[in-house]
Amino acid sequence: MNERKLHVAQDDKLIDDAYQNLLSALPPSIEAEDRRNIAKAFQMAREAHHTQRRKSGEPYILHPIEVARICAEEIGLGPTAIVAALLHDVVEDTAISKDDIEHHFNKKIALIVEGLTKLEANFDEDQDFTHSIQAENFKKVLRAMLIDVRVVLVKMADRLHNMRTLGAMPKHKQLRIAAETSFIYSPLAHRLGLYNIKTEFEDMSMKITDADNYFAIAQKLKDTKRNRQVYIKSFIDPLKEVLDAELDFGFEIYGRPKSIHSINNKIQNKNVEFEEIYDLFAIRIIVDAPLKLEKAVCWQIYSIVTDVHEPIPERLKDWITTPKSNGYESLHTTVIGPGGRYVEVQIRSKRMDEIAERGFAAHWKYKGELRSDDVYDKWLVSIRETLESPESDTIDFLGDLKSNLFNEEVFVYTPNGDLKVLPKGATALDFAYSIHSEVGNQCAGVKLENKMVPLNYILSNGDQLEVITNKSQKPTEDWLKFVKTARAKSKIRGSLKEREKEMAGMGKEKLLRKLDQMKVDYDSNIEFLIDHYAFDNAMELFLAIYEEKFNLNQLKTLEIQGKKLLPRKKGIIEKIVGFRRSDGEEQPIRKKKKKTDSQAKVTFPDNADFQYQLAPCCNPVLGDNIFGFINISGGIKIHRSNCPNAEHLMANYGYRVIKADWVDEENTPFTVELLIEGLDKGPGVIESVSSSLSSQLGLNIKSFYIDGHEGYFKGKVSIIVKNKEQLNQAIDLLKKMDEIHSVSRSN
Ligand code: MN
Repeated sequence: MNERKLHVAQDDKLIDDAYQNLLSALPPSIEAEDRRNIAKAFQMAREAHHTQRRKSGEPYILHPIEVARICAEEIGLGPTAIVAALLHDVVEDTAISKDDIEHHFNKKIALIVEGLTKLEANFDEDQDFTHSIQAENFKKVLRAMLIDVRVVLVKMADRLHNMRTLGAMPKHKQLRIAAETSFIYSPLAHRLGLYNIKTEFEDMSMKITDADNYFAIAQKLKDTKRNRQVYIKSFIDPLKEVLDAELDFGFEIYGRPKSIHSINNKIQNKNVEFEEIYDLFAIRIIVDAPLKLEKAVCWQIYSIVTDVHEPIPERLKDWITTPKSNGYESLHTTVIGPGGRYVEVQIRSKRMDEIAERGFAAHWKYKGELRSDDVYDKWLVSIRETLESPESDTIDFLGDLKSNLFNEEVFVYTPNGDLKVLPKGATALDFAYSIHSEVGNQCAGVKLENKMVPLNYILSNGDQLEVITNKSQKPTEDWLKFVKTARAKSKIRGSLKEREKEMAGMGKEKLLRKLDQMKVDYDSNIEFLIDHYAFDNAMELFLAIYEEKFNLNQLKTLEIQGKKLLPRKKGIIEKIVGFRRSDGEEQPIRKKKKKTDSQAKVTFPDNADFQYQLAPCCNPVLGDNIFGFINISGGIKIHRSNCPNAEHLMANYGYRVIKADWVDEENTPFTVELLIEGLDKGPGVIESVSSSLSSQLGLNIKSFYIDGHEGYFKGKVSIIVKNKEQLNQAIDLLKKMDEIHSVSRSN
C-alpha cells in the first residue's frame, strides 16, 4: 500500500518536473490565452493517459510532454503545435475523440491531432516491412503534410523522442523503427531543413542498424578530439583577430565536428580510412547583421577569411544568392589551413543560421520579410501534384520523391527572369513541363541563349531558357526516357494515353465502316474478332487497325452467317489465331496452344484453376519468366516477363496482371530460388535459414547468397523441392522467422 503511494508520488513529481521543463521552453512572448490552452491540453492528456505506461515503465504522459517540449525548443513551433503535440496520442489511445478536441480547443488543433492519429495508425509496429508499404506510409505522411505542415513537424518531434528512448524496445522493433526513420524521416527532415533533427535521426539509426561502425567512429572521434581542438584554435585565432578589427557587427566563430553518419558515408563511398578524412569538422562564422546588410557582410567576411587563409576557388558555394530549395542559405568555401589542410568555412547571418538549423519552422517565422517566391510553397505544390497524379504508381512515386528529397537542385530562368527550381539532372523538356503541362506537350524545341538545344539537354545553374511550342507537336514514348521530374513523366504518360485513345477511336471508326460494308454488326462480332485474332482487348485491335498493323481485308476471309462472322470453313485454317501482317494475306503465326497441348502447365496463386492461353506475341516456353494477363473475356494470357508488350501491360493495366508460374507435371525435384529480405546482419541469417530448411524440412540447399547494407539484407536461397507443396512449406517456414520480413519466389 505504502509502496504504491510512493510510486504515485514519484510519478507525480516526474510529470510535474517534465511539465515545468516544457513551460520554461516556451518563448516569453507567448500570450496568456495560449498559456491557458497549453495548461488545459496538459491536464486533458494527463487524465486521458492516466493509467498508461511506456515500455520503459514511465508514466505515458511524459512522452507527449517531451514531444511538446521538442516542438517548442528544438523546432521552434508555436502554441498550436505545442497543444497538438500534448494531445497527439489521446485520440489514438484513449476515449477522447476529435470532436472533444474541437469542442475544448479549436478546429485547427483537432485537424492536426487527427492527422497525427492517422499517421500513428499507419505506423503499426507489426506490419510487414515491405517496399510498397513503406511507400504507402510515405505517401500518407506527405498527404498529412499537405493538410497542415505542422502535422509532419509534430510527427518529427514524436519520432525524435521515440528514437531517443528506443532502448526500452525489443531489438527487432528497434531495427524496424530505425530503418523506417532513416528511410522516411531523415529525408523529410532534410527537405524541411531541420538540419539538427536530420543529423540526429541518421546518427541514431546508424547506432542501431550499423552499431559496429558507429561505435568505432565515435571512439576515433573521441581519441582525436584533443588534436582537433588544438588545430581548430590555430585556424581560428589569426582569423578572429582580423574579424574583431574589421567587422562592425557581433559574430561567433567555432569549429563543429561532422556527424558520425556523414563521416561513415565518406569512409564507405570514397573507400578511405577515418584517418584520411580531412574534413571531420567545419568552421562556422555566424554574424549578427541586419537583414538588409547580411549578404554584403557575409561577403566581407569571405574576403577576410580568404585574406588570412588561401582559398580553393572552385570550392566556393553561394547559397545566399540562390538558397537551396529547403531554404538553406549560407556561403561555403574551402581554404588551406595551417599545415596545408583543407578546411571548410561556412559563413552566414544569425537569421540564416536559424533557418539552417530549424528549417521550415524558422522559415515560417521570417515569411513576409522575405522574397515572395517561396521555395517551400513551390515544393508543397510539386508534392501535391505528384500525389494527385493518377499515373504515379506507388513505386515510381517513391523513386521520384526520394530523389526529389535528397537531390540538389538547379536554378534556371524563364525569358522574363522568373526562377524555376528543378532537380539536378533535369532536362530542357522538364523545364518546359515546369512552366505548364501544355507548354511541355507542345514543346518543339528549347533555346538557350538564342541557340537551340536538344530536348534532353541537362540544365545548368543560371541557364535562361525559352521554349518554342508548336500546336502539332505531340509527346512520344522517347520523351519518357530522359525526363527527370515526376511532373513531366506523368503528363507525358497522360498525354500518350489520350493519344492512344484518339488513335484507337480512329481505328474503331475504320472497323465500323468495314463491318458496315460487310453488313454485319459490331456488337455481336467484336468479342469474336478479338479472340479470333488473338488480341488482348478491343483497344489493342483498334490500335492495330489504326497503325495498319492489322489489315481489315483479312475479314473477307471470314465466313458470314446472318449478322455474325465465323471462322472460315472447317479444315482450312480454323486453328489459326494470330494475324499481324498487313499484306492482307492470312498468315498463321502459331497454332492455338491449348492447355492440354503443352507439356508445361501454368499455376496461379492459391492454385486457382484459370483457363489460360500462351500469348502469341512472345510465345513463352517452360523456364521463361512469365505472368498472366486477364482478358476482358475473363480468360488469361500468359506472357513472358520480357515480352515487348509486358511493360505497357503492367504500366497501364497493372490490376489485370496476375502472377503465374510454370509447374512441372512430374514430381521430379526442381530448383527454386527464393528471395528473402529482412533486417539483420548477414552471417546470423545464413546460419538460421539453412539450419531450419535442412533440419526441419530436410531440404537441400543448392546455393545461398546474401547481401547486407546498413542492417537490411537481401538474400537468394536456392532450394531443391519435389513439388509446390514442399515449396510452400519452405516459404511458410521462412516467413515465420523473426529476422525475415518478406519471402518471394524469384523467377
Ligand atoms: Mn507519440
